[in-house]
Amino acid sequence: YDDRDGVIWMDGVLTPWRDAKVHILTHAMHYASSVFEGERAYGGKIFKSREHSERLLFSGRELDIPIPYTADQIEAAKDETLKASGLKDAYVRALCWRGSGEDMGVASARNPVHLAIAIWAWGAYYGDAKMKGAKLDISKWKRPSPETIPCFAKAAGLYMICTMSKHAAEKKGCSDALMMDYRGYVAEATGANVFFVKNGEVHTPKPDCFLNGITRQTVIGMLKEKGITVIERHIEPSEMESFEQCWLTGTAAEVTPVGQIGDYNFEVGALTRSIAEDYEKLVRA
Ligand code: PMP
Repeated sequence: YDDRDGVIWMDGVLTPWRDAKVHILTHAMHYASSVFEGERAYGGKIFKSREHSERLLFSGRELDIPIPYTADQIEAAKDETLKASGLKDAYVRALCWRGSGEDMGVASARNPVHLAIAIWAWGAYYGDAKMKGAKLDISKWKRPSPETIPCFAKAAGLYMICTMSKHAAEKKGCSDALMMDYRGYVAEATGANVFFVKNGEVHTPKPDCFLNGITRQTVIGMLKEKGITVIERHIEPSEMESFEQCWLTGTAAEVTPVGQIGDYNFEVGALTRSIAEDYEKLVRA
């Protein structure tokens, strides 16, 4: 990803893509002092841009990484970068991190906080699973308790669990992994939230120890508008036996049908298809 044309916004300057570099003694490289956002632009407009900027600021506050920009400034920076990219449909990555400075130990309060925005074309996150239904492994790694880490932040450190889970899944020929939470309840996939359908009702894990995705909230709103009952609750893994349909939601994943999780199978049913289509329409409205 580093060797291509284009520009990346770094601390207020549109920098040639290949020159957008940091020093090896960047605090974030050693101690994961970094928070970020993943967003998508459709037809030249970033979907729920303001919500993503607000979540970035929230993540910074949670991790004691004071972001030196306001939501308005972040909005303007993203717009500037999107225009410069020349792309209409694109993925937007805003990244905030502690740089190198006075501190090289665990503490980083005296090191500067940086912001960068990179935008590139990114198609379907799960490839052709988007049509057929993705196959998921069940991860051995659990989402941590809220007493362990600020689990509602989109923080780099939390993603090590996701990366290990996804690598293990890919080695088994799966596209992703479903993770349980620290209590053993169904939590989420490594970069997306999960929904199930049973008897015309939708069940989804209560987001009390993981990211309450912006796509998740959008999809819940769409389901309620259709008059469909949505139940947010703790879900035991064994309940997956009785669920008929399943899909994932996320900025990158959008609405992706799931065909299999471990030994449990799901059909890519009518509700899954209609929610995927409605979401597609909504983001371009
Ligand atoms: N959970 C995790 C771990 C994620 O990385 C993402 C993607 N940001 C989500 C859920 C979905 O969040 P959103 O819909 O806001 O993209």
